[in-house]
Amino acid sequence: MSSAQALRRITILGATGSIGASTLDVIARHPQRFAVAALCANRQWQPLLEQIARFRPAYTALLDAQAAGELAAAVRREGLPTSVLCGPQGLCEVATLPEVDTVVAAIVGAAGLAPTLAAARAGKTILLANKETLVLSGSVFIAAVSAGGATLLPIDSEHNAIFQCLPPGYAGSPEERGVRRILLTASGGPFRVTPLSALARATPEEACAHPRWRMGRKISVDSATMMNKGLEVIEAHWLFGARREQIDVVIHPESIVHSLVEYVDGSVLAQLGNPDMRTPIAQALAWPSRVAAGVSPLELAQIGALHFAAPDPARFPCLGLACAALDAGGSAPATLNAANEVAVAAFLDRGIGFLDIAAVCAEALARLPARPVSSLDDALEADRAGRAVARELLGRQAVSA
Ligand code: NDP
Ligand code: MG
Repeated sequence: MSSAQALRRITILGATGSIGASTLDVIARHPQRFAVAALCANRQWQPLLEQIARFRPAYTALLDAQAAGELAAAVRREGLPTSVLCGPQGLCEVATLPEVDTVVAAIVGAAGLAPTLAAARAGKTILLANKETLVLSGSVFIAAVSAGGATLLPIDSEHNAIFQCLPPGYAGSPEERGVRRILLTASGGPFRVTPLSALARATPEEACAHPRWRMGRKISVDSATMMNKGLEVIEAHWLFGARREQIDVVIHPESIVHSLVEYVDGSVLAQLGNPDMRTPIAQALAWPSRVAAGVSPLELAQIGALHFAAPDPARFPCLGLACAALDAGGSAPATLNAANEVAVAAFLDRGIGFLDIAAVCAEALARLPARPVSSLDDALEADRAGRAVARELLGRQAVSA
């Protein structure tokens, strides 16, 4: 067996989510190449149990201790060969197991930061979906990747597309490799053409009904506000060493062109495909080779036309807020992310309206001046402060984000 085809042993952080399910789908197609070493989630132990019964990992971990207890009892009852760990420590343990070479970071939100950072320090190949890790602590995380000898492969579809369009061996210096601009595409979400006057009344169901992608509820709301694209600008800055003015966003409602790289000679390289997360996941799992992902072929003649437009700042203020946070630097992106997580949770709970999400984020950024972030603790403190201010703004201390 050549090294490119050695069995990859994989931990999935966030196995029960949308990215987790797509990852397991790709893994199941290639049992000779990929083995599941550990599966983790927050508290949904029953879906996790089904995954454990199917993939029989040596380890599983749940953040929630009570759910972990129920899972451990069920694992024993069913005679499965899986040790059950719990708590933040359990997540970090399965992210750093010596026998694991690849960690899929697909927990939603800031909760993904600590185990992803632990995987970086342990030198793992990290397939990064959890963009919040880079938004909260970009400099700390990139330094940990380098110090730990880890390999970072983006599976966020846009960043995976850019990764595929950059020259091989690209090491984070656009000018050195003739890269003029990175172009992130954005679908525009479910409210791309909704009359602005109707947005105040938008419901969680409408916000989560994404026209192209089926994703978790939090990122679906972020797509509706375009905060997701703002977080992705920050993600691209850290992943590719690009300055803010080297990163542009273009709306592309068909979600066929997943992003583009423009070179100084005028060439623009794009990666295209049907909107299905199994493509970027398979690309990163098999990298540098390729494996089938179960994705249907792209039939351009049937699609006929592709459209592009500039994002409207009045419709999508969150995009501008994220760019401003990147310009401010330090803790500002973490503040923004924290305020957004609190506001999105409140919106999904029907505690606030859709337009309040941007208002809470803007006010949190205005109230908390940017401070330097040079450690995990700094990032977590910025996250805590951002959440506290957002909760205060919402006037509801009990928002569970
Ligand atoms: P989901 O909401 O579908 O799944 C989230 C997963 O994270 C679940 O397994 C959940 O476990 C787990 N989880 C939630 N909170 C915690 C916690 N505190 N500790 C440990 N595990 C936790 O999210 P998605 O799969 O949609 O998104 C995951 C990440 O990938 C996000 O960062 C998102 O931005 C990113 N991403 C997603 C894309 C998509 O297409 N879905 C595209 C690009 C990026 P449980 O089931 O127990 O709650
Ligand atoms: Mg994306």
